[in-house]
Amino acid sequence: MDHQKRALVTGGAGLIGSHIVDALLREGWSVRILDNLEPQTHPQGRPAWLPAGAEFNQADICDRRAARAALEDIDVVFHQAAYGGYMPEISKYVHVNSFGTAQLLEIIRDENLPIKKIIVASSQAVYNEGAASCPTHGLVFPSTRPQAQLEQGDWQVHCPQCAAVTTIAPTPERAPTGGETVYALTKLDQEKLVLLWGRQTGIPTVALRYSCTYGPRQSIFNPYTGVIAIFSTRLLNNLPPVLYEDGAQTRDMCFVEDIARANLLAAESAAADGLPVNIGSGVATTVRQMAEMIGSALNIPLAPVCRGEFRPGEMRHLQADLGRAAAIGYRPSIDLATGIGRYLDWIRTQGDIREYFAAAEQMLRRKRIIQPVKTQPS
Ligand SMILES: [Zn+2]
Repeated sequence: MDHQKRALVTGGAGLIGSHIVDALLREGWSVRILDNLEPQTHPQGRPAWLPAGAEFNQADICDRRAARAALEDIDVVFHQAAYGGYMPEISKYVHVNSFGTAQLLEIIRDENLPIKKIIVASSQAVYNEGAASCPTHGLVFPSTRPQAQLEQGDWQVHCPQCAAVTTIAPTPERAPTGGETVYALTKLDQEKLVLLWGRQTGIPTVALRYSCTYGPRQSIFNPYTGVIAIFSTRLLNNLPPVLYEDGAQTRDMCFVEDIARANLLAAESAAADGLPVNIGSGVATTVRQMAEMIGSALNIPLAPVCRGEFRPGEMRHLQADLGRAAAIGYRPSIDLATGIGRYLDWIRTQGDIREYFAAAEQMLRRKRIIQPVKTQPS
């Protein structure tokens, strides 16, 4: 490309999208944002961080005319627009994530738009459960833990071959995918639609399976997404973080600037074209450790609480195998303690921090997205 490279970032006002926008502008791209400013994420409207250097189109990804207009004169699409979290709005996930992506691809193909690459935001939620290591069978790919097992308070991941208790192992992209939440199902839809379309059209595509992403600009209003944001707002309101299961489940937490940089690497490199690629930190941290790290960084020594509840379909462990990511030149650069510090520095500039989780939790219980362990008859 000899002209200035032109990017469309869908969802470009959000946590990941906005950091991709900043990184692209720094690299000299021209940038257009398509974002509907979803009220749950942006209750105060247009965020202050939208840079003057980017063109901003406020419209829904599902609005065909707006999507068509946003694709005009674009080289690379960074498709980040999605609906996320634990809200039980099944049709909304499918509409925004699956239909929105399908329509975007359809427009490009119908109108023969000269798009050179599409990078789609996928998620490690597409794995049913992280890979595990069995003392007898080595690397195994367990399924989601059965509901009946969780109801008994057995949180371990058992070997699919011998039922032995396993330990965590890095999850490679070849691990089975399924989708045990509606969100995960639609992320898998997006990923498969884009990669299949890429094979059909010959246009390069990459699906980045993001780990749990956190960092400055993560919505402090959305009680359904972002464990670091939820724990931070709880603690800042002198409420203890709430852990499900026993708090020893692990997540691979990735700082948002690393995720953004991975997008630019995927745009520039052909090494992962046509493939899903894990992007994360490569480090597993228990949710209890996260709660304690935030409490200690804030100097608010409130111990996290476990109430004997669990979320059906939740993964026990996930640690990203970053072997394929290394092929596009990706290496994580910001560790969790540094990243939490950066997030807390930002959150302190956000004025009055309210806590939205407690009210949301009641609704999640009613909808059985959070369930209690069944007590054993004695
Ligand atoms: Zn085994």
